[in-house]
Amino acid sequence: MTAPIRVAIVGMGKIAHDQHLPSIAGDDNFTLAATVSSRGEGVGDLPHYRTLAELLASDTPVDAVALCTPPQVRYDLASAAIAAGKHVFLEKPPGATLAEVALLEAQAVEAGVTLFASWHSRYAAGVAPARAWLAGRKILSAAIVWREDVRVWHPGQDWIWAPGGLGVFDPGINALSIATAILPPFFLVDGTLSLPANREAPIAADLKFRDAAGVPVTMDLDWRQTGPQSWDISVETDAGTLKLEKGGAVLTLPGAAPQVAEDREYPGLYARFAELVRAGTRDVDTAPLRLVADAFLRAHRKAVEPFVE
Ligand code: NAP
Repeated sequence: MTAPIRVAIVGMGKIAHDQHLPSIAGDDNFTLAATVSSRGEGVGDLPHYRTLAELLASDTPVDAVALCTPPQVRYDLASAAIAAGKHVFLEKPPGATLAEVALLEAQAVEAGVTLFASWHSRYAAGVAPARAWLAGRKILSAAIVWREDVRVWHPGQDWIWAPGGLGVFDPGINALSIATAILPPFFLVDGTLSLPANREAPIAADLKFRDAAGVPVTMDLDWRQTGPQSWDISVETDAGTLKLEKGGAVLTLPGAAPQVAEDREYPGLYARFAELVRAGTRDVDTAPLRLVADAFLRAHRKAVEPFVE
């Protein structure tokens, strides 16, 4: 039996608690070796440190780190971990800029360690079967509608409104991670970002993309949604409409009942990370982040009412 990969979690916030801790505990490929938290939060009797530098300087043996901090501070953490010979799991988005992620990939190649830019929504139950079904069809159009209430899902997350925090693209990039996995490559042609007068990141976005054949892909993102929430993608094809709902968890094919399966997104990510570490390779796809960066480059900006939490 291969030895478990000793992993440390860095940044003990919402996603570390909701998904990383249970996924590591449920996967024999991994053992949780330590935690790093600026607030000093630990897990049971496990070693815990205030900074990654303290962990790396310690005698706690660690093979890998899972970086669960906001994207703006991720480059320095990842770069230090790679320099220390550790495998790195990056939460999404993999960084605050495309250039820093490219640099990290080069550093990981040079150091011979794994770098995994994770996209959890790609592991939603409906995504792989949607991709397989669409592969044999002519796609006529696609529409993404991602509307949620920021006060419910991101309370107190000041980083999300700061430059590099992406605003409404923090959830919106999940939709793009699915769309870039199931559709032919597409690019932005026009759009509008709505920015609250008191914030530096958009609260809503209305975007128009197309692919090389001219097939339109629209995206409607809004963080001001109250009532029913939408995390839906629909794809019109020559064989009817495919629907992915609830962030990719529910797939409905034309003429069929909705398919619902157990949520295995983070277990799927950790299985993939183990596979990459064991194979000594990397997986760094920046396509979703590239589309978001292009929206910041190419879209119009509209000032909207200030956002007060
Ligand atoms: P969060 O609850 O705000 O937690 C982030 C943690 O990172 C903080 O608790 C803090 O942990 C640490 N941190 C280090 N530097 C920080 C800084 N400058 N500002 C704020 N926190 C800092 O955020 P989250 O929701 O877990 O999201 C973290 C990442 O996971 C984001 O990239 C997000 O897109 C991604 N993600 C989130 C979800 C979700 O449902 N929330 C889902 C999937 C992916 P310590 O105090 O322990 O140092």
